[in-house]
Amino acid sequence: METIQTDVAIIGAGGAGLRAAIAVGETDPKLRIALISKVYPMRSHTCAAEGGAAGVIKPDDSLENHFNDTVGGGDWLCDQDAVDYLVQEAPRELIQLEHWGCPWSREPNGSVAVRPFGGMIKQRTWFAADKSGFHILHTLFQTSLKFPSIQRFDEYYVTDLIVDDGRCQGLTAIEMRSGQMRQFQARAVIIAGGGAGRMFPFTTNGAIKTGDGMALAYRAGVALKDMEFVQYHPTGLPNTGTLLTEACRGEGGILLNKNGRRFLQDYGMGPETPVGKPQLKTMELGPRDRVSQAFWHEQKKGNMLPTQWGDCMLLDMRHLGEKAINERLPLVRDVTTSYLGVDPVTDPVPVRPVVHYMMGGIDTNIRAATPLAGLFAAGECACVSINGANRLGSNSLTEILVFGRRAGLSAAEYVRSGARPGNDAALAAKATAAQARIRARFEKTGGKESVAALRKEMMTTMERNAGIYRSGDGLSEACVKLGELRHRYAEVELTDKTNVYNTDLLQALELGSMLDCAEAVAASALARKESRGAHQRLDFVERDDKSFLRHSLAYYHPTDPPRVEYRDVVITKSQPGVRDYSGDHQ
Ligand SMILES: Cc1cc2nc3c(=O)[nH]c(=O)nc-3n(C[C@H](O)[C@H](O)[C@H](O)COP(=O)(O)OP(=O)(O)OC[C@H]3O[C@@H](n4cnc5c(N)ncnc54)[C@H](O)[C@@H]3O)c2cc1C
Repeated sequence: METIQTDVAIIGAGGAGLRAAIAVGETDPKLRIALISKVYPMRSHTCAAEGGAAGVIKPDDSLENHFNDTVGGGDWLCDQDAVDYLVQEAPRELIQLEHWGCPWSREPNGSVAVRPFGGMIKQRTWFAADKSGFHILHTLFQTSLKFPSIQRFDEYYVTDLIVDDGRCQGLTAIEMRSGQMRQFQARAVIIAGGGAGRMFPFTTNGAIKTGDGMALAYRAGVALKDMEFVQYHPTGLPNTGTLLTEACRGEGGILLNKNGRRFLQDYGMGPETPVGKPQLKTMELGPRDRVSQAFWHEQKKGNMLPTQWGDCMLLDMRHLGEKAINERLPLVRDVTTSYLGVDPVTDPVPVRPVVHYMMGGIDTNIRAATPLAGLFAAGECACVSINGANRLGSNSLTEILVFGRRAGLSAAEYVRSGARPGNDAALAAKATAAQARIRARFEKTGGKESVAALRKEMMTTMERNAGIYRSGDGLSEACVKLGELRHRYAEVELTDKTNVYNTDLLQALELGSMLDCAEAVAASALARKESRGAHQRLDFVERDDKSFLRHSLAYYHPTDPPRVEYRDVVITKSQPGVRDYSGDHQ
């Protein structure tokens, strides 16, 4: 097997991976960086982000406001030292992007424009029309090209971490073009593999968001933290799940039930205020967990609009006018017109909640380090945790920048502090074992299971039992079913046994990642007997700070269900309180 020697190997070339690579490159041009991605960098999901990135910039705002919104929005499950770091670093990172060429939208006077976003009491979301992620990713990608020390391995699929001598020392990856396995020996590894929304059937997430990065760390013994917190975004297109950004509501769009009522006023997010631009009361700018939960209740009351794609609410943007929609939400108009045949300038758009984001992920500390020496993680695959039980929209793009950079700095520091050289023979043996495991899957004959069928059963189970509202019975059923699916997974037979771009093999490996992540979600959700943020239990309706103001930590077992342990949340200055969204946005 060909071996590639590097100093820092980075899994993922989305926003977090690219930002980490740049940070390593800037720290020490002598450090060799291998940037490995299963797709071309610009196809990473960061590209799809629409609304923007939060960072305090206007004089009437403060870091304290951003901190309080984030911690309250996360239902006090955020680690407050990490949130402090995020809000302090955010403005610097966003200005840095501007200097690297990111075309942020401007105010008429030329200063950076910001827009309101859900759960943030002040306007602080920087944006580039409604293509913010595209421009951020482009800016990072083109900046990364300045560094000769960054060597890209596009369309390489990472299958395993190599752990020896108690530390992470590399990985194995399949070069998809040839089907050949490669060993990467690295002195430090950063995982920036993105989210796992594809465990669910109806999601805004691109097809590549299959939790590979999380599963890699999990199988290597690092816990997955707070996996029970899965975010639903209230406004997805009902047929495809394509996101209609929260910026639709930030710009003044309103949500109506089938009777034309702005129903959020009935769920503690009122009172209703005159339709105007931008919203002044919370209403449509409530946090995502609360807005999605309100949808569920309205559905139970029969107040939703039945459509061929299920019950919907209406997102009405007509009053914004064609000029504003074209200027501030061009992609939204394009998407609704192309995929649904509805023009937001003339008609309200049917929408329904859709799985959007994983608050949980690889257990990291404020330095983006995992408990496994030599292994770091950042971005959506990691849980540091700044999102707690519910992420506020526009904090994730900021997180990938702030903690992507932090992971790069920490990995560079770790390498420069003199990580011992590895034992080549031991590392090669581990790589060969990984290769043999993949080959066995590849060559299997007589297997009774197909990837597509297992994937469908997994998705149905997740949607039915681990959705917006959950119950002990449903979650127990999910745990049993997912355990069974993991066993049946061993019986999967590939229909394509060729080498070149074998997507059949990749989808089988991705399914393995999703099954592991799904089991961690279900087990952690069953164990958390309370309701907090995005985790709502019909059988435990109250938040229970006494027992559960703690992070869950799910530990992998190859055949049995995960073991769930807990760790206290870091609280520095904000004691748990009541989440009140009846106040003003300013
Ligand atoms: C439609 C949409 C809109 C959004 N809008 C916003 C917004 O406006 N504001 C906001 O703050 N957040 C938003 N989010 C969330 C935010 O965009 C993401 O959380 C964030 O971009 C994730 O970045 P990342 O770098 O962690 O991962 P990604 O950008 O998903 O990149 C993951 C990388 O990992 C690589 N990878 C994964 N597995 C493997 C493997 N096995 N081998 C090799 N490579 C691998 C992939 O190739 C990819 O390069 C949005 C999300 C979606 C889906």
